[in-house]
Amino acid sequence: ADRVLPYETDRFESKYELGRKLGEGAFGVVYVAKSKKSSREFACKTISKTKLIRPQDRADVVREVEILQRVKGHPNIVSIRHVFEDDTSVSIVMDMCAGGELFDLITKRGTFTEQDAAATVTVMLELCHHLHANSVVHRDLKPENFLLLSAVQETGSAGTSLQAIVPDMKVTDFGLSVILNSPKDCSLHQTVGTPFYVAPEVVNGAPYGAKCDVWSLGCIAYILLSGRPPFTGATVPEIISAVKQGHVDLVSKPWHKVSASGRDFVQQMLTYDPAHRPDCGSLLKHAWLRDASSSSYVLS
Ligand code: ADP
Ligand code: MG
Repeated sequence: ADRVLPYETDRFESKYELGRKLGEGAFGVVYVAKSKKSSREFACKTISKTKLIRPQDRADVVREVEILQRVKGHPNIVSIRHVFEDDTSVSIVMDMCAGGELFDLITKRGTFTEQDAAATVTVMLELCHHLHANSVVHRDLKPENFLLLSAVQETGSAGTSLQAIVPDMKVTDFGLSVILNSPKDCSLHQTVGTPFYVAPEVVNGAPYGAKCDVWSLGCIAYILLSGRPPFTGATVPEIISAVKQGHVDLVSKPWHKVSASGRDFVQQMLTYDPAHRPDCGSLLKHAWLRDASSSSYVLS
């Protein structure tokens, strides 16, 4: 009757047992799901049908599942295991990332060494490159949507180096993602994303493509190195207006402590015109990623 997915599924209860709540987003509530067969724990994003009012919300869920299936297998992309639907909800079972959001680690730590920032951005660019090669644009890359596989042991004041943790980081939440006609397709126009991380071409209403993800990763790189987002404001319209202006401050504190190569890298990622913004593949060749991971640039 009231189906969302275009196919029948097993019953969740036949395979998993629902456990404690792990997190919550705009559409989904995420719980632990324990496999009845192996006792292994997974994460289950449950989307209540009461939240799926417009036909487009339903189409979005179908697309999220389709995209998860399309991109799974990469070590830094959360893997979908099962999908279920019953009368009240759609449930997506995926790898559990017990270490929580990268966001919380950033909030706790403030800034990171260039070495840590470069290692983190490298992993992000590599997985994003994989998405784009598969014609998938994430459209909501932000620290809340990068999850750590296991809990971080906070030893000493500096904490564990990010460099050691990020190989286990996984991107999640493909709720706003889309499939392009081809990797270079630039015909998207929907204004979606999160204010701090959204690219100017997305809010300017111009047709756009995969490069909007590069901008969002540039915002994350900026935060890792300076402890604050590049485009800020007291209200959402103010943040959007800062994004539209696109002025990137790489001069104020603490940018004077960041290497010229690091500043150049961030500047390139935050190139206003997406046609001139480098793609993930060329950014991965930037000297800063190589140099910073092998030397001792340190922020204090
Ligand atoms: P929404 O689409 O509603 O934003 P998300 O997919 O972002 O939902 O999930 C909401 C939150 O649930 C995340 O921010 C995170 O804290 C938690 N979460 C999501 N997926 C997992 C997972 N695989 N493992 C552990 N926690 C998760
Ligand atoms: Mg989310």
